[in-house]
Amino acid sequence: MIVVMKKGSKEEDVSRVKERIEDMGLEAHISKGSERTVIGVVGSLDKDKLSLDPIATLSLDEGVDRVYSVTKPYKLASRENREENTIVKVGNVEVGGDNFTIIAGPCSVESKEQMMETALGIKECSAHMLRGGAFKPRTSPYTFQGLGEEGLKLLKEASDATGMPIVTEVMNPKDLDVVLRYADVLQIGARNIQNFSLLKLVGQTDKPVLLKRGMSTTIQEFLMSAEYVMSEGNADVILCERGIRTFETATRSTLDISAVPVLKKETHLPVLIDPSHAAGKRDYVPALSKAAIAAGADGLLIEVHYKPEIAVSDAAQQLNIPEYCSLVKELKDIAKAVGKVIN
Ligand code: PEP
Ligand code: MN
Repeated sequence: MIVVMKKGSKEEDVSRVKERIEDMGLEAHISKGSERTVIGVVGSLDKDKLSLDPIATLSLDEGVDRVYSVTKPYKLASRENREENTIVKVGNVEVGGDNFTIIAGPCSVESKEQMMETALGIKECSAHMLRGGAFKPRTSPYTFQGLGEEGLKLLKEASDATGMPIVTEVMNPKDLDVVLRYADVLQIGARNIQNFSLLKLVGQTDKPVLLKRGMSTTIQEFLMSAEYVMSEGNADVILCERGIRTFETATRSTLDISAVPVLKKETHLPVLIDPSHAAGKRDYVPALSKAAIAAGADGLLIEVHYKPEIAVSDAAQQLNIPEYCSLVKELKDIAKAVGKVIN
């Protein structure tokens, strides 16, 4: 259910309505837009209040403009709940709105030299945030699993040297505390997108969460995962389409470019594209990146390595720094045509 407050409603009106909602045993999620405040209501009525009609009750409040029920199973994430695009702030970086945000960096954090050289290189060419995995979800238990906290420290040094916030994956709830000490954005990888207990835990933090669509996750399931995070009180969710599994084997996954307009219609949350894991091969990354910006995505998560040929994971899909820089140059031209800004 959505409660739309009247234009110019005061803080006290919003608190009174919130109290009324909570008195019925329901939860109120307040979202302040530039024009008005909207309250998303979720939960079920207390047993002794079952005879109440919350829509009728709340409609009577003098601060309320209208109340309506949300038909989608994802309530807080749905565009019905919030018409305006959500902008997620990470330090000085804004994800969503007119911004086209680029998160770049290697697949895995490997060494000090690798992180520093890569971070300094991409910073020269308009990267906004720095990525790198310290806890790696590898298909084989015998391949490189990530440097753990040592890797997070290297990320932090590279972030301090360049001013770029850190985006890094948390795979296991037992690592959440250590990842929280270093990360500016918590990444949930494709393989954990339906790990509901992990989603609830990151929903209880105050760090923005980047959710990667699973390789076999429908858009509805993807949005339900966002709902898990948001229902715990964390509204700062960024979605990322990274390719889904189809019968096609020419690419590592099939980039579902249609996910961009569908998600844009269904949700107010920012939508990024990861062309690297979708393609699996660096040659295809520029075309998919350009398709992403043209289709209306809010940014990219892209793998870049100062020496991809020696990368310990995903070597075939990482761009080197000159390749990355020439791609960003092309993206800037497309950005102008589609009303996006790459700062
Ligand atoms: C990653 O971005 O580091 C990653 C492992 O990607 P995905 O979870 O999409 O496979
Ligand atoms: Mn990778």
